[in-house]
Amino acid sequence: MDFPTRFDVIVIGGGHAGTEAALAAARMGSQTLLLTHNIETLGQMSCNPAIGGIGKSHLVKEIDALGGAMARATDRAGIQFRVLNGRKGPAVRATRAQTDRILYKAAIREILENQPNLTLFQQSADDLIVENERVTGVVTQTGIRFLGKTVVLTTGTFLGGIIHIGMKNHAGGRAGDAPANALAQRLRELPFNVGRLKTGTPPRIDARSVDFSVMQQQWGDDPTPVMSFMGSRDEHPRQVCCHITRTTEETHDIIRSGFDRSPMFTGNIGGVGPRYCPSLEDKVSRFADKSSHQIFVEPEGLTTHELYPNGISTSLPFDIQVRAVQSIPGFEKAHIMRPGYAIEYDYLNPQDLRHTLETKFIQGLYFAGQINGTTGYEEAAAQGLLAGINAARQAQDKDAWYPRRDEAYIGVLVDDLITMGTSEPYRMFTSRAEYRLILREDNADLRLTDSGRELGLVDDERWRKFNAKRDAIGTERSRLEGTRVHPNSAAGERANQYLKQPLGRDHTLAELLRRPEIVYAHIADIAEYRADDAIVADQVEIEIKYEGYISRQADEIERLRKNENTALPVDLDYGIIGGLSNEIKQKLGAVRPETVAQASRVQGVTPAAISQILVHMKKRE
Ligand code: FAD
Repeated sequence: MDFPTRFDVIVIGGGHAGTEAALAAARMGSQTLLLTHNIETLGQMSCNPAIGGIGKSHLVKEIDALGGAMARATDRAGIQFRVLNGRKGPAVRATRAQTDRILYKAAIREILENQPNLTLFQQSADDLIVENERVTGVVTQTGIRFLGKTVVLTTGTFLGGIIHIGMKNHAGGRAGDAPANALAQRLRELPFNVGRLKTGTPPRIDARSVDFSVMQQQWGDDPTPVMSFMGSRDEHPRQVCCHITRTTEETHDIIRSGFDRSPMFTGNIGGVGPRYCPSLEDKVSRFADKSSHQIFVEPEGLTTHELYPNGISTSLPFDIQVRAVQSIPGFEKAHIMRPGYAIEYDYLNPQDLRHTLETKFIQGLYFAGQINGTTGYEEAAAQGLLAGINAARQAQDKDAWYPRRDEAYIGVLVDDLITMGTSEPYRMFTSRAEYRLILREDNADLRLTDSGRELGLVDDERWRKFNAKRDAIGTERSRLEGTRVHPNSAAGERANQYLKQPLGRDHTLAELLRRPEIVYAHIADIAEYRADDAIVADQVEIEIKYEGYISRQADEIERLRKNENTALPVDLDYGIIGGLSNEIKQKLGAVRPETVAQASRVQGVTPAAISQILVHMKKRE
């Protein structure tokens, strides 16, 4: 039979983690198999059809800089784009796109199907082949054995998934999909620490049954933001309006009347849910003093009437869902097309992983996405990309690669997960990064494209465009640093219009731009010249304005880098290191940090403990 069964890299699961993992491995030249339950659901958004948002867009743009698909698909599928925190500092600005879920899936599928070195196959992976603590392949539901040098597992919410609506529950990976129970059972037999988490989704509503006239309108930004460095506004489909409404006291009374049949409150669901994305019953119970909660009414696409009411995720019984929805202004006659539900699923403690997302117990096996206790498409995609890169590199006998915390949010995400573990679904926020001013969404390409090129992820077209941008930034910066404005010149007079205090001596344009009251548009007016590309102008403005803070953060990073580069053996016996408390020994023994810097981030580990470890390491040499 002429059917390929040997691959370099096998990726299980075609969600957001799996697709980025498979694309990265294939782009790096590894023969890659993407094995998934259903080819129709490649790139499916299980919940809200939106990409980006605070902290998350930083991940999307980093994935993009490393040649990933998420931002490109978003530009082809986005039906409303906005920049959140637009008036705040550049570190926390974030692009968010409402997408058409059908267009998004189609874009991902097209990218996958046209990727050289990538084979797609539809079937459930039921078993892993493990020999001498090394994974060597996968067995499918019908017994097909695929052999691979490395395997990436990205099973999302499917491991042992149970769907809850009120007191009724059934097995499922998400609504309409079967769970992955055989694989879940197999993972429980292997030496992994398995826990349960839960997440939920709101009922979906037919737009034809909604009265939008009583709701507030919300349009996207103009000009429309673009997600990918390679994207353009011309790719965007038709842009649409979203709406805002609110829950009422009556809604909350109805929700409360269902508490005795809530799977969460009656103990039917044991898994912990996402703190930052609580269900409506959670909000009503935890914030009892609030009489109303905001709901964003978001279209699911251009060719469907289905609406996503963002903010009313619920697993209450269906009769309560109908009454609660119909108590909301504009939804009085709403028809629910799909009930809301909660899903409980297995996740594996990410402390069992290395920075590459390879498991510590089974060589060549990588975990990425929701399986590691995270929530969100962007978090999943970021991990998938990293796991795919490393699975390919291991298959090619190359060294591991991962970004540090000061290089990328991807580095922050993975380091947080493997160092601290998580007992609730983990989502990204800008507050999780200590070097926020350096890790901005606007400079993700400048931070990571070089690495992407070296890894073999950045094609010639992107590389050319990137270098042109980097050169243009350098040229514009030099111009601002080299152009002087004399107080008695025409330019000086123009400058005085904008300055709080008139010029007393010569200043460079860069010095003027550092003044709080001056922005790039003023500089352009003063110098009667502006950079052709607004993105270049923005970048130069941010770099110059925040130079002081940025260089302070850079100094701190440099100081700490030594610790990042000092490796700790994974088999280090913390029990024999003198001067460490039992608590610290136990915590370090559980986490098994890979570097001194990672050890210092383990909760409760003091600088004194780090000194003891360094002394011990010196003695070992
Ligand atoms: P998934 O997107 O779940 O993809 C997993 C893929 O693996 C699927 O294609 C599946 O078919 C395949 N698969 C699984 N097991 C096997 C197997 N054994 N063999 C072959 N293929 C397999 N995120 C938020 O940010 N906010 C939310 O409010 C939110 N709510 C959610 C509500 C629900 C009900 C669900 C289900 C998810 C929600 N999410 C939410 C999470 C979001 O959907 C996930 O974080 C994201 O999809 C995870 O991506 P992933 O690639 O890890 O997994």
